[in-house]
Amino acid sequence: MDKNKKILLKIFDLDDDLVENVSLETDMKRNTLYVKFKRTMNYCSVCGSVKLLSKGYYTSTLVGCPFNGKPTLIKCKINRFVCKNCGSYPVDENPISYKNTNMTRTAVITILNELKPYTATYSQIANRFGTSTSHIMNLFDRYVRVKRKKLPRVLLIDEFYFSRKVKFKHPTILMNFENNVIIDVIKSRKQEVTLEYFFHIPKEEKEAVEFICTDMSYTFKPLLQLYFPHSTLLVDHFHVIKYINDQLNNTRIRVMRKYSHDKTSLNYRILKNKYKLLLKNEEDLDDETYKNDHILGFTTTQSGIVYQMTLLDDEINRAYKLKELYRAFDSITKKEINNYDMEKELNSIIKQFKNSNIEEMIEVAETLKNWKQEILNSFVWIKDRRISNGPIEGKNHYIKKILYNGNGMQNFERARNRILYSQNKYESYDLDIEYTDSIKMKKEDLLFNDDETDEFEE
Ligand SMILES: [Zn+2]
Repeated sequence: MDKNKKILLKIFDLDDDLVENVSLETDMKRNTLYVKFKRTMNYCSVCGSVKLLSKGYYTSTLVGCPFNGKPTLIKCKINRFVCKNCGSYPVDENPISYKNTNMTRTAVITILNELKPYTATYSQIANRFGTSTSHIMNLFDRYVRVKRKKLPRVLLIDEFYFSRKVKFKHPTILMNFENNVIIDVIKSRKQEVTLEYFFHIPKEEKEAVEFICTDMSYTFKPLLQLYFPHSTLLVDHFHVIKYINDQLNNTRIRVMRKYSHDKTSLNYRILKNKYKLLLKNEEDLDDETYKNDHILGFTTTQSGIVYQMTLLDDEINRAYKLKELYRAFDSITKKEINNYDMEKELNSIIKQFKNSNIEEMIEVAETLKNWKQEILNSFVWIKDRRISNGPIEGKNHYIKKILYNGNGMQNFERARNRILYSQNKYESYDLDIEYTDSIKMKKEDLLFNDDETDEFEE
């Protein structure tokens, strides 16, 4: 074989012992590599007879790796025979086709690697390789099936929004607080699903979980008694703060409406336009930069604006102070905690919310009372990090992007594999295990389920 052909073989990762002839054609859209393979069959693959006669070639097209920014198709010519003994027409094996993928092994590996970053999309990769999106998805399904990890010592549980078009709209995500590894993604947050899920996990594994952190939804409490009687349940303290802030915002909206008969009034305008400052943490307000405020009509700082808001309405003033009171309690540090009787502090806070005479704050008192133990439990530090669902919140952006890139992906199993594969750094594919069962969606998963909507949708 001449030197140019040897270069071609090298570029396209082909073994020259296998190849009889090779040539390359290239146009604006793609590279086409023509490869004629050497004969390898010496006796009939059906009956074993040596009486084989050449019967031309069998041609097939494989997807290779893109080259020079264009997809590469490999047109293979494989020897075909007729057996004089049994009459069958055996064909040589295609030596570069990877299993039954219609791709080269290098292409398969490259595609699986390219699917690792969360930004990758199936369609982008399909375009680059000159094949179909479903082909790429099938390849992913065939080699990437991520198993759940062992339950950790500190288990974080949260949910995310999946798709409007499926029965279970809110999958549950489990994460290890100590190393940020996603343990698993469960189809739903609904008890019928999570009960079944945790039921199948070995008892010893469940018993090794020391802390479980969730938001303030009630779905986990019965599971705790049933499966994790030795674990401590705590609420994610960020969720509590967010909830109180939301309630403060509800107070703000109600009060603003009180003034809405005169939309030019200072009270109405300031509550409508400056509410973001009200919801900010007090210490994050800028109290140094003076600017002319066109609503107030004088020069002041962010802190000054909030101060004016509290002067203008007594309910706003007291609701704001309650929010800041709770925040101060929540920010007690590991160093300080021994100086406080936390339960006494929290009881006193609940009392102040309850006696506020502000409907939204009275509601907060009820919620805090219901979650008192779990709030007190939330003051736990592991290596100086307070336990929270922060690590899961940090993943939400990536998960959203993956789901968005999946083109309104509705296949939960595929979405789950993709999330685990791309978000867990050391997750890999295994070419030795080939999953042949389909993960196509079942019909019942696509049905609308109104009772979940009724129960949870805001
Ligand atoms: Zn034969």
